[in-house]
Amino acid sequence: MIEIRSIIERAGHSKEDLITLLRSEGDDKDILFKKTGEIRDKHAGKKVWLRGLIEFSNICSKDCLYCGIRKSNKNISRYNLTDEEILKAAAFAYEKGFGSIALQSGELESKTFTNRIESLIKKIKKLSAGNLGITLSVGEQEKEVYQKWFDAGAHRYLLRMEATNPALYSKIHPGDTWHNFSRRLKCLESLKNIGYQTGTGVMIGLPFQTCDDLAGDLLFMKDFDIDMCGMGPYIEHADTPFIKYSSGIPSLAERLDLSLKMIAVLRLIMKDINIVASTALQSIDPEGREKAVRIGANIIMPNITPGKYRDSYRLYENKPCSGDSADDCLASFEENIKAEGYEIIYGEWGDSKHFFKRSKG
Ligand code: SAH
Ligand code: SF4
Repeated sequence: MIEIRSIIERAGHSKEDLITLLRSEGDDKDILFKKTGEIRDKHAGKKVWLRGLIEFSNICSKDCLYCGIRKSNKNISRYNLTDEEILKAAAFAYEKGFGSIALQSGELESKTFTNRIESLIKKIKKLSAGNLGITLSVGEQEKEVYQKWFDAGAHRYLLRMEATNPALYSKIHPGDTWHNFSRRLKCLESLKNIGYQTGTGVMIGLPFQTCDDLAGDLLFMKDFDIDMCGMGPYIEHADTPFIKYSSGIPSLAERLDLSLKMIAVLRLIMKDINIVASTALQSIDPEGREKAVRIGANIIMPNITPGKYRDSYRLYENKPCSGDSADDCLASFEENIKAEGYEIIYGEWGDSKHFFKRSKG
């Protein structure tokens, strides 16, 4: 027990330290979670900020081996919200007092897509008198495209590395020449250089992934000096090539536990970044997001995609809140965390404090 405390308190954690923390169980895990909960409360306050998530299209040009909306999956109906539907969802978020929205979709690289997003960003800024913060999560793009969207008013970008070990990255993605680890990393660097609050993350419990890989992911995030993190459990989808590995990966309960430990350890080593309590946590445990908030997360992304499309944005099985309205999805969470003294903050962007420190140098 003494050992875990001394590892937690240590300045500059080695990979071995992180592995020990990720393997902690019982009292040791309780000590870790208590500490990272305190760090979270000290740096973020007992507060949770919102990003209304609009999953505006499931059309994707990529074929990630784990993802239910990969281009080769013929068993889903593809959709693309109209501009009006997207703007209506953004207006809903604004009226509800959400400080920010996040626009997410499958990945497309084209002039039409670039111009469409640019125009949507401008319209969303206009309809909210500049008040809604905009996070984008639409994959890999050329630097000029990221710049265009930044100039239009988007100020945060989430691009998960998915796995920061290049060997593991190549096992979970098809071997396209244009879809590779170095391009992903280059994209993340471009986002940071342009001036976005830059977020990344990984999936936890993937086939072939080891504890060493996960500790490496945490060190990558620290070294890259990210501003935000969205990470969560890998969850199978029947219509993907990875379904064949289902028996060889940790159980859902183990993936949930490991994901919580990843969030806790990241909070320990990056005290003032924004960390999302991901929706995938909620799909394993209805209170998965609440558990993440207690031990380190400070952001949630309630789904505000119009209900009729939600079933088709099925990245993985059992995705929660499929038929629910946005209100139902948030209400139980809000009730639960309020009872523990946390507050959901309306009307604020909830920017990454780390970003401002980093940019001041
Ligand atoms: N196309 C964009 C954004 C949409 S996908 C992109 O890939 O960046 C958003 C995230 O969903 C991905 O980053 C991935 O981490 C996650 N995801 C995809 N399939 C998943 C699965 N089977 N289990 C858990 N998360 C998954
Ligand atoms: Fe497309 Fe993103 Fe899914 Fe990969 S993870 S297939 S890029 S939606």
